[in-house]
Amino acid sequence: MSVTLEKKEDESLAPCAMKNVFHGGRFHPEDPPPYRTAFQRDRDRIIHSKAFRRLGYKTQVFVNTEGDNYRTRLTHSIEVGQLSRSVAAALRLNRDYAETIALAHDLGHTPFGHAGQQILHSLLREKGGFEHNCQSLRIVTALEMRYPLFRGLNLTRATLKGMMKHSRIYECDRELEDLVRERKSENPSLEAALVDHCDRIAYIHHDLEDGMDSNILQSEELFELDPWRDTYRRLEQKHGRDFSGQRISVRIRSVVRSLINLCILDLIATTEANIATLGATGLADILVAGGQEHPVRFSAEMAEILAVLQKHLVFRLYRHPRVMQMSRRGKRIIERLFLDYSEQPEMLPDHFRQRIEQEGQARVVADYVSGMTDRFALREYRFLTGAAD
Ligand code: MG
Repeated sequence: MSVTLEKKEDESLAPCAMKNVFHGGRFHPEDPPPYRTAFQRDRDRIIHSKAFRRLGYKTQVFVNTEGDNYRTRLTHSIEVGQLSRSVAAALRLNRDYAETIALAHDLGHTPFGHAGQQILHSLLREKGGFEHNCQSLRIVTALEMRYPLFRGLNLTRATLKGMMKHSRIYECDRELEDLVRERKSENPSLEAALVDHCDRIAYIHHDLEDGMDSNILQSEELFELDPWRDTYRRLEQKHGRDFSGQRISVRIRSVVRSLINLCILDLIATTEANIATLGATGLADILVAGGQEHPVRFSAEMAEILAVLQKHLVFRLYRHPRVMQMSRRGKRIIERLFLDYSEQPEMLPDHFRQRIEQEGQARVVADYVSGMTDRFALREYRFLTGAAD
């Protein structure tokens, strides 16, 4: 039944899309699902995973305990999933494939945001380092334990390849070597590339919103940025008092929404034109496109707008003393947990300890610590150190 479903769907997709017929199978063969496509099954497996649920308690920019309205890694992933699905649909690409990659793209993040990754990477310098994309792959191929016959989620090869951003894996994940080699010799599919762009659209705009909700960013300073001011004025002209008479929070959200729309429209139009110029007639033309720029991109004007907004975030939000304090605290907690568990690995849960011999102690401790949520890491830290905080 699902093979017919996949075939029917493939007929409605654009020639260069990742058609269901290219899913590449699974490491552990399984019967095709009776009522959904292979990519829909992959997406559903991600949604039902423990790592996905934990994203709800992991820092995006603001530490999870700072407030209930800020984005977490989970809400960020859902927003990236929504944008990716919309863009894929508009281009007649495979929505389910794009959504699957989007929902999985941040699974490997540590607690406390990028600070956690930085400190784990330096602690594992001699042992292959730590990188969230490699960790995402490890989660879906080895760490999730839900099935009796295999470790991981047994996703399709196409989904695993779509998740590979830098063509890198850890040394202990040897079963992925062939796939990484393939991925290295190819361009990303249109779907995988658009998820990257949607990730950027999502975080730039929600960080502006969260930055203002936290009072770290002020709306006056954004007014000094051309894209923000232009969009604000356009809305003012279009809606008059209905816009300018609104509470500031509604005006901010309207500007953000309007900017996101511009980005999406630009991404769709630019990509469509690039595919046409490339004369691509099938997936193979995208994967082997060689030296040219990938067809999925923003126009030069939109790239400039995003660069202006992102630069502002870097200087005014990500490097704000309060955000840096949160990062420093996060680093200290993760470092202490990593060192304590390394000194006494008997404290690790059984199913982690059992893997030490094969995968190395440092990697297993990193798996355990990086998989923690912000609040669990904090609780462990307090317990082990006896600290009040
Ligand atoms: Mg992301």
